[in-house]
Amino acid sequence: MDEKIIFVSHCILNQSIRNEKFSKIKEVVKLLSETDVGIVQLPCPKIDCNGKFIKNTTNVKIYKKYCEKTSVIIVNTIKKYLDADFKVLGILGVEFSPICGVYRINNGRKNIPGKGALIKEIENEMQKRNFQVPIISTNLNNVFSILEKINILLKNS
Ligand code: SF4
Repeated sequence: MDEKIIFVSHCILNQSIRNEKFSKIKEVVKLLSETDVGIVQLPCPKIDCNGKFIKNTTNVKIYKKYCEKTSVIIVNTIKKYLDADFKVLGILGVEFSPICGVYRINNGRKNIPGKGALIKEIENEMQKRNFQVPIISTNLNNVFSILEKINILLKNS
């Protein structure tokens, strides 16, 4: 049987970098560990870019180059797992983040349709390399919807 693995935005596992904490998120980790899914934590551009931790900003332009470079490394890693016959369930992004959002982002004033800077680059990089794994939007306020989405990924794997 193939080993299963999932990529997750950094702050899904590391709540300490968030202003808002989501204690129920441990249910997500519990489900993944009970179903033997390996978890790969993506880097957080807010920590790794610019040599300092910028906590609150919606100015994604400062992350653009970092996201372009980092997406290549992330997609290389995903490809290595696929080539080694791992089943990559997908990538969990963070709804409303201007960096990790999948369908909706916050532009500093309101939530609007769009992709976060890092997610957009990861998707582009996978398209260039002719493969795709599902990119799933997670609303950290609604852990039950996250669990449901993971269960669907598991069912389809
Ligand atoms: S940039 Fe992404 S990983 Fe970092 S805090 Fe924002 S949503 Fe989380």
